[in-house]
Amino acid sequence: MTTRALIDKLESTQTLSREEFKELLYCDDDRLFERARSAADSVYGKNIYMRGLIEFTSYCKNDCLYCGLRTGNKKALRYRLSKHEILDCCEKGYALGFRTFVLQGGEDTYYNDDIMTEIVREIRATYTDCAITLSTGERGAESYARLRNAGADRYLLRHETANDGHYRSLHPENMSPANRKNCLYELKRLGYQTGCGFMVGSPGQTPDNIVDDLLFIKDLKPQMVGIGPFIPHSDTPFNGEKPGDLRLTLNLLAILRLMQPNLLIPATTALGTIDPTGREQGILAGANVVMPNLSPIEVRDKYLLYDNKICTGDEAAECVNCMRMRIKSIGYELVVSRGDFKNAVAPCPYPTKQAPPRQAASQHR
Ligand code: SAH
Repeated sequence: MTTRALIDKLESTQTLSREEFKELLYCDDDRLFERARSAADSVYGKNIYMRGLIEFTSYCKNDCLYCGLRTGNKKALRYRLSKHEILDCCEKGYALGFRTFVLQGGEDTYYNDDIMTEIVREIRATYTDCAITLSTGERGAESYARLRNAGADRYLLRHETANDGHYRSLHPENMSPANRKNCLYELKRLGYQTGCGFMVGSPGQTPDNIVDDLLFIKDLKPQMVGIGPFIPHSDTPFNGEKPGDLRLTLNLLAILRLMQPNLLIPATTALGTIDPTGREQGILAGANVVMPNLSPIEVRDKYLLYDNKICTGDEAAECVNCMRMRIKSIGYELVVSRGDFKNAVAPCPYPTKQAPPRQAASQHR
């Protein structure tokens, strides 16, 4: 099938066969981006949503082979933010226009359910018009339920890879692919707007693994999908591995957009790290969310998932201004909004009532 025919089929049926997915994944036809972008525009218009990322702890009990925060990395600098420090980040963020706060961290047992629910409850009470997103890894069903009751609206938990064998090659023995997926189904069941996702080009990833990821996403039907290139961290076992490919990441963003036009898809910091205009290219390939860093400047350079992470020396305000300018430069607008998932069917792009003819309007000038 021609690339054009593959794009048509994906757009009209929202899926492809395994072989067709693989063909589209590695195509170099920019029409894929154009079609994905117009699918995004038909649901979200020219709006790009922003989420304030608060990296609240760099401690982690897990030993994921790819991650700079892994417990085995004895060189990693560790910190924890107190509830007051987190609330300070929210206050700064609110003034800068953020209406979603994302609390992300390593799996740090210090933040047990009592402590975590207290933090969520207080943000909820203070910022009634904001969404609270958590990204604190695998927890029990009851823990997810308590946090939801305390006021958390959304949860990001990348599945990392849907293929069991590949999952096991990226994680220590005590972590299981089934548990990770079960967490995601549980989060959805509890009514969280749920985000899964994976790294592009993680060591050992095959084209078939990526198709497994797409099929898993099809089954889960998440509200958000976060993907970004894998980038090696020098103090992990994956030191010296190749980073993920820009073009493949962009193709995947576009494919996800065509599979599910109303998805919330971030142009990630990792994408901006492998290419100076990676995030802009991500938006032009179909992404509609950015996540500038709201963490206090003193801890920025201690939350290093991978090498060369961008924006580790900038104040939150600088990050937002820089992002606003970048988005404007490509014809989009960073908006002050919770930026919720749109459940409704996309509005018809062709209004039935015709606009008055241009000429008639200009005659009255
Ligand atoms: N502990 C939380 C947050 C993890 S960090 C959790 O388990 O969900 C957020 C994401 O960063 C991870 O899900 C992973 O996909 C990504 N990440 C980690 N190391 C990375 C690396 N070396 N390159 C690119 N992305 C990485």
